Amino acid sequence: MPDGFNLDDAIRKVPDFPKPGILFYDITSVLANPDAFRYCIDQMVKLYKNERLDAVAAIESRGFVFAAPLCDRLGLPLILVRKKGKLPGRTIGKKYALEYGEAEIEMHGEDIPKGGRVLIVDDLIATGGTVRATADLLREGGAEPIGVFAVIGLPFLDYATPLAGLPARTLIEYYGE
Ligand code: AMP
Repeated sequence: MPDGFNLDDAIRKVPDFPKPGILFYDITSVLANPDAFRYCIDQMVKLYKNERLDAVAAIESRGFVFAAPLCDRLGLPLILVRKKGKLPGRTIGKKYALEYGEAEIEMHGEDIPKGGRVLIVDDLIATGGTVRATADLLREGGAEPIGVFAVIGLPFLDYATPLAGLPARTLIEYYGE
């Protein structure tokens, strides 16, 4: 654990949520702990302060909470990736497969920097499906996704495969549910 902070202690684990068999890694306990939250933002700043970035795309809704202070600290534009029907302006969207059924995400097309380098931020990467759809949508909007950050990674769900070479960085990884 970098800098000696025990992030694992700050993450609430909730068995059988939202359905039986899923262990939910809950970051609301990180947000309620100022030392833990500041630790996460400080680590994000260290990881990305020397990276050439033009914007950050944050995934609804827990990704917003981590991306906003990063954008403030690094002076970067923040693009919100939302579920279909939430954004009021002209949007571009992408459908993607869930375990059961499908979902659709949207962004304001005019907020995507054309030719710009964009970092994707979420709280947790599980199967990587949401990040993959976000990266595809950024490309369709004319930007270059350069990587993804999530506080928590679940590599046993093989998110590296759908990310297809897009570098993923996490602060903590778990290997079971
Ligand atoms: P995925 O598209 O499978 O990578 O799912 C990513 C989204 O689902 C993230 O925005 C997470 O917030 C949420 N998620 C999936 N699995 C979990 C889990 N075990 N604990 C907490 N959040 C999860």
